[in-house]
Amino acid sequence: MLLPITLLAGVLAAQDVRFVGKTKYLHNARAVVVHSIDDSTKHVGETIDAMDRHGIKATIFVSTEEDPAPEDRFFTQLQIRELWPRLRRAYADGHEIGSHSKQHPCKKPDDEAFCAAAYSDYEIRGSRDDILRLTGQPYVWSWCYPCGNCATYPFIQQRIAAAGYIVARNYPNELQNGHVRPDVQDFDENPMNAGYTQVVQHRNAAKTDTIDLASINAKFDEVYNKGGVYHFMSHPQWLDFGPEAAYESHLRHVGNRKDVWYVPMGPLYAFRKLRDRTKVEAVGGSAFVVSNDLDKRIYGGAVTLEFDAPEALTVRSGNLESVRREGRRVFVTVHPNTRIEFVAPSAPANLSGSWKLSYRTRSGLERNATLELEQKGGELSGTLRSERGSAPLTSGHVQGNEVRLSIVRKGNGDEVPVSVEGTLREGVLYLWMRFRGGEAIAVIGKR
Ligand SMILES: [Zn+2]
Repeated sequence: MLLPITLLAGVLAAQDVRFVGKTKYLHNARAVVVHSIDDSTKHVGETIDAMDRHGIKATIFVSTEEDPAPEDRFFTQLQIRELWPRLRRAYADGHEIGSHSKQHPCKKPDDEAFCAAAYSDYEIRGSRDDILRLTGQPYVWSWCYPCGNCATYPFIQQRIAAAGYIVARNYPNELQNGHVRPDVQDFDENPMNAGYTQVVQHRNAAKTDTIDLASINAKFDEVYNKGGVYHFMSHPQWLDFGPEAAYESHLRHVGNRKDVWYVPMGPLYAFRKLRDRTKVEAVGGSAFVVSNDLDKRIYGGAVTLEFDAPEALTVRSGNLESVRREGRRVFVTVHPNTRIEFVAPSAPANLSGSWKLSYRTRSGLERNATLELEQKGGELSGTLRSERGSAPLTSGHVQGNEVRLSIVRKGNGDEVPVSVEGTLREGVLYLWMRFRGGEAIAVIGKR
């Protein structure tokens, strides 16, 4: 026996929808790939082009001073003026522009006196404001310490956080080449001194120092198999380009995987905070309120929530990004500060009765036919009649306002399968009819 659909909704929803939890990564991805590149060199453009061929999303750290005095010039920062148009396009394509200061102050050793003087508002806030003004990016989330200097001083971390940055990437032990593998395989505990997994580049300027592609790829495999965050960094001036070069070979190895979330560093750390601070509360069995108290200008992204729910129910929310089902497991990706509701599909329209169909054949002839329908629940039976004879429906379904029918027309010892699908809108059937799976013909049906 069929239950009335409203009763079905009440029974299913109240007992059977359960919030399982927030997924670790967006869209319940298996692992994360983050890339970051440093310095304002002319090689930045071709580096981004290579990433884009493999679906990699990076944080592009630039020093923003366009015309520094000669004594303040860092050797790589002189090409920034030509880079801005490419950076604007990169932001629009899903990359992030991060700050690498204005003038790239850099000294070894990076003692406290040097750091206190070098990390001025001019460097920290000035570079942020340049990026806001010149890229169209609404917020600057990420900082990168020039030469890896000063990253370990809490007072420097505080200055950077006070300027609105939410994550700051380090570059430890450059002199000893110890930076090649800090081996961070998840989010860093301290986002203001955040590490990465490994470096992909020639050592310093020595192009004779080969990149061990096999071991670099193996490190990615290790993190991927653990479901971790794989973050690799590069200096574009220390790369070779071309599909067979080590850099692009590594991009090919890690890129374009369906189960990986490719995301720049700032949006990834913003996601972590958004995920941790978002609360999900059940209200009345089948509805949930998803909320947090974060500033939407900074934490405007989405989270993914897992529910256990009967397959018959559909998800409604004002702020929905996507819904993915695996049987009873439902992954709902939403922008928080919204309500999610699991609802039974609306009752099917009633199509019982006689419909006059009109359509034009592919050779331009006007045709009319009559469709007699009898509906029981979501099932339809009936007959299609025209001057060329009549044929019973072999199957018919209606779900909400969506209609699907199939008919087999017989004649001249031949059988022609006819499929019809479409919707009921304001009392009119708008259908597409195909003979023998051929091109669809538009059909209007009126009572
Ligand atoms: Zn640098």
